[in-house]
Amino acid sequence: MTAPTATKYEVVIGIEVHAQLDTKSKMFCSCSADYHNAPPNTHVCPVCLGMPGVLPVINRQAVEYTIMTGLALNCTVPDRAKFDRKNYPYPDLVKGYQISQYDLPLCKGGWLEIELEEGGTKRIGVTRVHLEEDTARNMHRTNGAGEAYTLIDVNRSGTALMEMVTEPDVRSGQEARLYLTKLQQILRYLGVSRANMEEGNMRCEPNISLRLVGAPEFGSKVELKNLNSFRAVELGIEYEIQRQRALLDAGERVVQETRGWRDEEGKTVSQRSKELAEDYRYFPEPDLPPLRIDRAYVDGLRARLPELPDAKRARFREQYGLSEYEANLLAQTRARADYFEAVVGALANDGDLLLRRAKAASNWILGEYARLLNLAGIEITGSKVMPEHLHELLVLIDEGTVSTTGAKSVFEAMFESGKPARQVVEEQGLTQISAAGEIQSVVMQVIENNPKPVEDYRAGKDEAIKFLVGQVMRETRGRAKPDLVLELLRQQLAS
Ligand code: ADP
Ligand code: MG
Ligand code: ZN
Repeated sequence: MTAPTATKYEVVIGIEVHAQLDTKSKMFCSCSADYHNAPPNTHVCPVCLGMPGVLPVINRQAVEYTIMTGLALNCTVPDRAKFDRKNYPYPDLVKGYQISQYDLPLCKGGWLEIELEEGGTKRIGVTRVHLEEDTARNMHRTNGAGEAYTLIDVNRSGTALMEMVTEPDVRSGQEARLYLTKLQQILRYLGVSRANMEEGNMRCEPNISLRLVGAPEFGSKVELKNLNSFRAVELGIEYEIQRQRALLDAGERVVQETRGWRDEEGKTVSQRSKELAEDYRYFPEPDLPPLRIDRAYVDGLRARLPELPDAKRARFREQYGLSEYEANLLAQTRARADYFEAVVGALANDGDLLLRRAKAASNWILGEYARLLNLAGIEITGSKVMPEHLHELLVLIDEGTVSTTGAKSVFEAMFESGKPARQVVEEQGLTQISAAGEIQSVVMQVIENNPKPVEDYRAGKDEAIKFLVGQVMRETRGRAKPDLVLELLRQQLAS
């Protein structure tokens, strides 16, 4: 009996990710790296145009961002690093080479932990994190006669690009996606890259191979390119696994090559047979000094790292008594996490109040507030509601000045206008009515207008009173105190 193909092969994947660093200037010259809305070839100079005789200068911020990323990925930062020339015979690098790092990268030997969907965690080894320069952008066109030609926009060329390479530890498209989402979250927490797959400032190339379960050696791998979303990564990898499995099942071999994902067709196609390192003829970059990395400098950077997502989530659960689900969502972005903590406010860590406030803040931010942000198509950072204003609203609810129902419409008005909670409450006359006299007349009115539920209630159907409470709440636009309404109704209906 043969094993089913699903378990006959082991999937082996290692991922290379490039992220454009959010530096002001390019990697080796002083051209502005903020070229995104600029006309082609306007952010250029002799250095990034690759003129002969010019000298590159290392961007200190880019080195710093790369080391910070390495530290966040649990890498070691060696004492020495250097830049190398990678010979590169394509028109999108006008120099004919790319300055990169070969044998002495800035960071190596780390890991990133992912939370598996079936439960549990897994560490993906990070082989290295290094720094290089990005290429120009090819723009393919067709002229009136239907002939294809290519224009080159050099604006992107020479911008700081960080590469992060994993060990071949990934076992599925899903694990690849989990790794990439976590990595993206960390890069954004660090503020080193926009890390947006769709915009191309985070690009991912998984290397995929299959081997018979228990085989000592890896199979030959295929590098996948042109994956512009997390979804494309997952689909592309799954497609490639099926393609390789079919080849191996048929007794054929997998050609080591680079393949491109065609999103519309849902398949991969061969792009070029894979270069070997020797094709690139790496050699030390003669125009740049090697880097000697001072321990105190690295320690200083380590001390400046922000609290990272894993630590923040754990702290949110511990300190505020939130569920795993809530902590994950609140810590999804640094901005949302900071907002949440600002809403909770500075409260002593001892009593119930902190936990209650945190729970309420979490409910608002993940509930009603998220709904309104979603409708408006904005992030919390773009909201007019200041965290102090939401804090104030929670206090007003606690005091009983605003009912829970009333709070919803108060918040909507706050969201629209950006006004503080107390001001909205006063302007809209939404203060909770807790004087029995004021509610009494509405209660009478509701009883008169709803003979059927009244009859049901009197006939012993206790449930019917809920409807009447609802009517009173509606008449008072949520301003009546619900337990008082219930009490008054019961009194009135008993007589
Ligand atoms: P190359 O020189 O072809 O770029 P590297 O050794 O630099 O290859 O590895 C690139 C990526 O491919 C790394 O993430 C590595 O873990 C992964 N990798 C290496 N060999 C395999 C393999 N046989 N199958 C899947 N991934 C692999
Ligand atoms: Mg490689
Ligand atoms: Zn330049």
